[in-house]
Amino acid sequence: MKIGILGGTFNPVHYGHLRTAEEMREVFALDKFLFIPAGRPPLKKPRLADVRHNYEMTKIAVSGNPLFDISDIETRTRGISYSVETMRKLTNKYRNAEFFFFIGIDAFLNLPKWKQPVKLMELANLVVISRPGFCFTDLSSSPYFMNAGKNILKRFDNGTRKKISFNLGTGKKIFLCKATELDISSFHIRRLVRSGRNIKYLLPESLESYIISNRLYK
Ligand code: ATP
Ligand code: MG
Repeated sequence: MKIGILGGTFNPVHYGHLRTAEEMREVFALDKFLFIPAGRPPLKKPRLADVRHNYEMTKIAVSGNPLFDISDIETRTRGISYSVETMRKLTNKYRNAEFFFFIGIDAFLNLPKWKQPVKLMELANLVVISRPGFCFTDLSSSPYFMNAGKNILKRFDNGTRKKISFNLGTGKKIFLCKATELDISSFHIRRLVRSGRNIKYLLPESLESYIISNRLYK
């Protein structure tokens, strides 16, 4: 069984996340795609009320897709959640599964600040996905891309190939993958709501209603 993982604050989840996950599910022929809302991520500081809402909204968003699912592995406890620990728990739970851990270029550039990033890459294949405002050449500054020359990254950025991979010597791989670039961020959605503007077509209508009726981001 092949399982895709997308972790995030999902404050709120939007079509950038959902469309990317759907495309990745097809490209990697995944049997299941798991969204994991963060409890208390170490690098962001959401309030507990937000964590609950982010979980609820993600649950609503995935309910329309039979191959999407949500995990409460990071939200059911109150502590700080680290991806490496989440992956450890998942590999214990799904013993025969092959995991693909998806991460946008923006988040990947932060990876050196994460807990045990190398261990994380030993537990799952890592897939770095395109995100508007970033290009794959940006990865040449990452300590994990020492071996991939800037030229390889540049050629991938400018070329027509959708996906390339590197072997990690751990039995796992790092993929770079282009998805339809939707310039949507949770930050922008929160800002629109705060300034009284509409957020139609950036996220599912059900979430727009959820945000309005719970008076989020005001
Ligand atoms: P915020 O603006 O609050 O940081 P966000 O839109 O970046 O929110 P996150 O919850 O931080 O959403 O992102 C979770 C994961 O999804 C990250 O790996 C991020 O790179 C990826 N991601 C978010 N938005 C997009 C998008 N529009 N296209 C591709 N990947 C995305
Ligand atoms: Mg983000």
